[in-house]
Amino acid sequence: MRFQHLFFVAFLLLAGVIQAAGAKYIFLFIGDGMAQQQRLMAEEYQLKLKKKGLVINSMPYQALTTTFSANAHVTDSAAAGTAIACGEKTNNGYLCMDPTGTRKLTSVASIAQGCGRKVGIVTSVTINHATPAAFYANQISRNNYYEIGLDLIASDFDYFGGGGIAQHDNTKSPAYQGNLYELAAKNGYTVTSSKADFEALKPGVGKVLARGADGVLPYVINQADNITLAEFTRKGIELLDNPDGFFMMVEGGAIDYCGHNNDAGAMLHETLAFDDAVKEAFAFAEKKPGQVLIIVTGDHETGGLAVGKKGVTFHEGLELLQYQDRSTDNNGNPPCGTFMERVNEESKAKADFNIQDLLPILAECYGLHPEQPENNPMKLTAEEMKSIEEALARHLDPKNKTRRTLQLAVQTVRDSKAGITWSSTGHTDALVPTTAFGPGAEKFKGFIDNTDIAKIIHAILIE
Ligand SMILES: [Zn+2]
Repeated sequence: MRFQHLFFVAFLLLAGVIQAAGAKYIFLFIGDGMAQQQRLMAEEYQLKLKKKGLVINSMPYQALTTTFSANAHVTDSAAAGTAIACGEKTNNGYLCMDPTGTRKLTSVASIAQGCGRKVGIVTSVTINHATPAAFYANQISRNNYYEIGLDLIASDFDYFGGGGIAQHDNTKSPAYQGNLYELAAKNGYTVTSSKADFEALKPGVGKVLARGADGVLPYVINQADNITLAEFTRKGIELLDNPDGFFMMVEGGAIDYCGHNNDAGAMLHETLAFDDAVKEAFAFAEKKPGQVLIIVTGDHETGGLAVGKKGVTFHEGLELLQYQDRSTDNNGNPPCGTFMERVNEESKAKADFNIQDLLPILAECYGLHPEQPENNPMKLTAEEMKSIEEALARHLDPKNKTRRTLQLAVQTVRDSKAGITWSSTGHTDALVPTTAFGPGAEKFKGFIDNTDIAKIIHAILIE
């Protein structure tokens, strides 16, 4: 069998089918919750405002990718991450375990490491969240955060960058051995938590665990001075570059969170930041012609996003997203004046908080106001004012337990103007585009399954 395989390879070589060695440097970018809709929305926005589309949408090879898991038509990030990393379907919630929960699966990151390549894992959310974890952990539940953190340290991968380790000091875990940052340092990792320490990291430093926040990185739309996904990617390139090559996975993890929140403006900025990270890989590819494979995919769609409007044949005004200057909610990060933070703070301070008090917040956070000139698309109509006023009353009613009442009402008004609709606050089954550039990129074409991504990378690694 093996002999036959060698014979076949020799035949291909003679036939000139295999022209060059496989990619020495492999980038796998995963937009969590990023399907065609998210990519198109960001593309159209950039074309309108900057006259230039996204790098992720202009790559030479494309494949439409199915995302279902072993036990569900609509996947979660753990099963999708497992499929993309290990090439096998599993149940929602499982991380690199087969559907019976007994057999451990191996990720392409581990295979790359076994082949002598350096490995980097980068994300904008916590580094032991489902998608990054699928590249180094084997756990029956994505919620075993502490155990996943132990798997992270045991992986011996060269570079981890992004958010912090969730539940890093979970003394309630049956596997508790100590604070995971301290354990990482004991196991040879240089652990950084400040931007200055991060920037000072130089090649030769050894294994690195660099966090830009205690938890998830703050949403891009909210902050100016955090370490960006692009900077984490650039640093990874700097630290991992070596003659034997590397494999780096970079996740735009918060695209999904914004999808769950139906927050189009925040999602747009997360997608653009993800595109900026991909640009770093392209800048590296320019310096290493013919040696860099860049793959961009998503693990599933989040939000059931569409551009269009009920009752109108053609409607689109994505440029209106430019007036949003804060995320609606804040994902547990330190307060930064998001729409809901401001509403909650000001309504606590003023007993009869009403729509008039809400108007300046609406104007600042979304650019919506009833006193705009008649032809201004951000002008709130009487009907829109009424829907927001009713939602505000429900939000302020102490009996109301629906956390998103007001934010969804405000977003619905703005999204209607921009021609954005959402059918879900969860995941959907939408096909996800996978785009690719570089040696081996031609294998990403037509219809593929998310497991094929791992299979293709695996084949390139052992070429
Ligand atoms: Zn999600």
